[in-house]
Amino acid sequence: MNDAAADPESAGRVAALADRAAQAGVAAVLIGPGADLAYLLGHSIGSHERLTCLVVPAAEPSWLLVPALERPGWEPLLAGASAAGPGVGGLTAVSWLDGADPHAMLADRLPPGVWAVDDHLPYGHARRICDAGSPGGVVLAGGLLADLRMRKSPAEVLELASIGAAIDRVHRDMGRWLRAGRTEHEVAADIAAAMLADGHTRADFVIVGSGPNGASPHHEASHRIIEPGDVVVVDIGGPGEAGYFSDCTRTYRVAGRDPDPDASRVHALVEAAQRAGVAAVTPGVSAESIDAAARSVIADAGYGEYFITRTGHGIGLEVHEEPYLVAGNRQLLEPGMAFSIEPGIYLPGRFGVRIEDIVVVGENGARLMNDAPRALHVVGG
Ligand code: ZN
Ligand code: ZN
Ligand code: ZN
Repeated sequence: MNDAAADPESAGRVAALADRAAQAGVAAVLIGPGADLAYLLGHSIGSHERLTCLVVPAAEPSWLLVPALERPGWEPLLAGASAAGPGVGGLTAVSWLDGADPHAMLADRLPPGVWAVDDHLPYGHARRICDAGSPGGVVLAGGLLADLRMRKSPAEVLELASIGAAIDRVHRDMGRWLRAGRTEHEVAADIAAAMLADGHTRADFVIVGSGPNGASPHHEASHRIIEPGDVVVVDIGGPGEAGYFSDCTRTYRVAGRDPDPDASRVHALVEAAQRAGVAAVTPGVSAESIDAAARSVIADAGYGEYFITRTGHGIGLEVHEEPYLVAGNRQLLEPGMAFSIEPGIYLPGRFGVRIEDIVVVGENGARLMNDAPRALHVVGG
């Protein structure tokens, strides 16, 4: 959620979406609260039962339907707008009072033809809008928006670099919190506090997967007491002030006892796979080729069956967005695309290893948004 302020990039983004809608034969795109709205207007709110919806028609000015009680929050974006007059970038707001039927109000004002609905708009809202009107077809708007959001502007890349540097600082301090005798929850709480103290408005996820818990890639944190010699996966991230996310994983080893005899070898293998993924990034190659570059290092060493995730995901105003680095994704990489490279090896009942950096595609290869040390770092000694 961002503070409402006229973002100079916003007007261009709405216009670009209208262009893409026209090219796709879509009459209007309907966007509910969330990252798409934040991207287009520089402001969003939480999604709830009262309908808020930005309408971006292919061939008419865009407008925003808002609950009357929430209109003040949008006022800075509608500067100069009367009850239904034009605002910044031609944006008009139509407000509705409790008791009115916002779905019918919206449907009545939509142009005939195909309506593209934001992938994140709750089905209850989407269904009622379509029932109240007569669309010439309904499609998902996600592809139209991904096409825009995948290609980060220089200002967006600066945001990713800044929040990436903040999460690196938290990783560099890991030895202060991660040690034997503490629970994963205790360690996670300290990490979350450090994130909030340094650049993050929210600790969106704090994964502390110690010992066997590390073998479950999305294990968050538990009451397990960390033991000497544990291998621990720490995957942390959240949004900064401007809404752009960090997401960085390092794998640590707790001092005090020899770790699993395979820990060093497996960690070195994941490091090599991650380096291979980063090295493969260059404009013009496919998203799936980055996955293949990282995966082949692990598969060639005989651990292919233990690399149970895709290699990475796009990142920006959402922690997971397009492009996904996964077999079958032939999307060609272009300068400005941002994504994680996070191969891992997950050995059930034993431990996991993952190393994750965010990279942005540059003209000559990957630009790393993270540089915290990747070697198997011993903590708590
Ligand atoms: Zn994840
Ligand atoms: Zn990630
Ligand atoms: Zn992560």
